[in-house]
Amino acid sequence: MKNFDLAIIGGGPGGYVCAIKAAQLGKKVVCIDASEHLGGTCLNRGCIPSKALLHSSYKYYEALNHFSHLGINFERLTFSLDEMMARKDRIKDTLGKGISGLFKKNGVIHYNGLASFNSAKTLNVRLKDGSNEQIEAQNIVIATGSEPILLPGIEVDEEKIVTSTGALSISTVPQRMVVLGGGVIGLELGSVWARLGSDVTVVEYSSRILSTMDSDISREVEKILLKQGMNFMHGAKAISALNTQSGVKLQVEKNGSLHEIESDVLLVAVGRKAYTKGLAIENAGVELDHKGKIKIDANFQTTTPGIYAIGDVVHGPMLAHKAEEDGIAVAEIISGQAGHVNYGALPSVIYIHPEVASVGKSEDELIESGVEYKIGKFPFLANSRARTNNETDGFVKILACRRTDAILGAHIVGYTAGDMISELAMSIEFKVSSEDIARISHSHPGFSEAIKEAALATFAKAIHI
Ligand SMILES: Cc1cc2nc3c(=O)[nH]c(=O)nc-3n(C[C@H](O)[C@H](O)[C@H](O)COP(=O)(O)OP(=O)(O)OC[C@H]3O[C@@H](n4cnc5c(N)ncnc54)[C@H](O)[C@@H]3O)c2cc1C
Repeated sequence: MKNFDLAIIGGGPGGYVCAIKAAQLGKKVVCIDASEHLGGTCLNRGCIPSKALLHSSYKYYEALNHFSHLGINFERLTFSLDEMMARKDRIKDTLGKGISGLFKKNGVIHYNGLASFNSAKTLNVRLKDGSNEQIEAQNIVIATGSEPILLPGIEVDEEKIVTSTGALSISTVPQRMVVLGGGVIGLELGSVWARLGSDVTVVEYSSRILSTMDSDISREVEKILLKQGMNFMHGAKAISALNTQSGVKLQVEKNGSLHEIESDVLLVAVGRKAYTKGLAIENAGVELDHKGKIKIDANFQTTTPGIYAIGDVVHGPMLAHKAEEDGIAVAEIISGQAGHVNYGALPSVIYIHPEVASVGKSEDELIESGVEYKIGKFPFLANSRARTNNETDGFVKILACRRTDAILGAHIVGYTAGDMISELAMSIEFKVSSEDIARISHSHPGFSEAIKEAALATFAKAIHI
């Protein structure tokens, strides 16, 4: 039996960050991951590979469609899908080795194996060579992440009917792709293949894509993606999918009648669910909620004292940086500090082009909760840097409290929105007012001047529109 202060199950962004932080705080830590490569979903089949493909495919799309507007012409443009895939894999490998290096640097012990509970304090680790290791730990953190939700009647083979995992490794560009689900993952991966030449149709159950986001944002994103050649079918419920010789036949129900949509590849991107398979949590008395997520209290502690859970396997947005913040907070709590995460200031980003970024409340949520608010909006069409860079799609929308002027929510569709949103996340964290933002000098010419202008528009008038 090996003894540790802390055992962490899962080496994704939640687990590995928690491990490093706890080791920095003086704990003897072991991190167990079933996969050969550290980094979890995020690094191996999520954030990083998708962003690598989004970048390569956008560079190609931009060269093909926009370079001539900049005065750049060329004779012939080609791309190598094999090289794009190889580049993506190299990035994954390099970053994975980086985590192993950080474990060594901080003295975190790493086991490559499948962990399961023997009791509330002991784990069995089935190592890759088939042998077993017994671990006893004062505290245990479950950070086992999530997996794609599958639908009855649609059997995934990861070749013609794929989840996000298969969509990151398609070997030839499909002529036609159907994306089931107009959420973040569906739009990002649909964009990759549309830019490389696929005829992409997004089939969405709800009346709008990105149904949980601010509806202004949903409308703008759909308009932009339509311009980029993607197609949308709303209010359609998938019934079944048939894998045929020539492709996939998806049957959907819309307005009470059945329709068939044929494609070469069907991407099922209808959401993700908590992953707890093989953990034998019942041996430790850890309980799940009605959605299959691990139940935790305000201090991330499960129904069993000394066992904590973080990241995708618990409630809250399934985002890598949320998992990381959870991990830091738990490491601090276990070390006697006051770990805390403000989910109200947690940004979320969609890495299509232009990027989409949000923090805080949507206008729809404010209407529903009855909070009195005011809106400031500024389009990138009126931003000088957006003009110089030929990146005029989108806008900044700021929602501020009518009474106190504090920022309640901010939403950006625009070039580098994913980075610009940090200013607004910080504003929410520190309860900054829209007037504060409007009075801060933003460098010119800069995309972030649109944030200043939108802030100005919440209580006065924007200057440049
Ligand atoms: C296509 C795609 C794109 C995404 N893009 C983004 C993005 O751009 N930005 C963003 O913030 N988020 C993104 N996400 C979400 C992000 O990947 C997750 O929110 C994040 O990885 C969750 O981290 P985690 O540590 O909770 O779990 P995970 O990263 O899922 O890690 C869990 C780990 O636990 C291991 N494990 C499970 N069970 C056991 C066991 N019994 N024993 C040992 N090990 C076990 C698994 O092998 C895995 O490595 C994306 C997801 C997908 C699928």
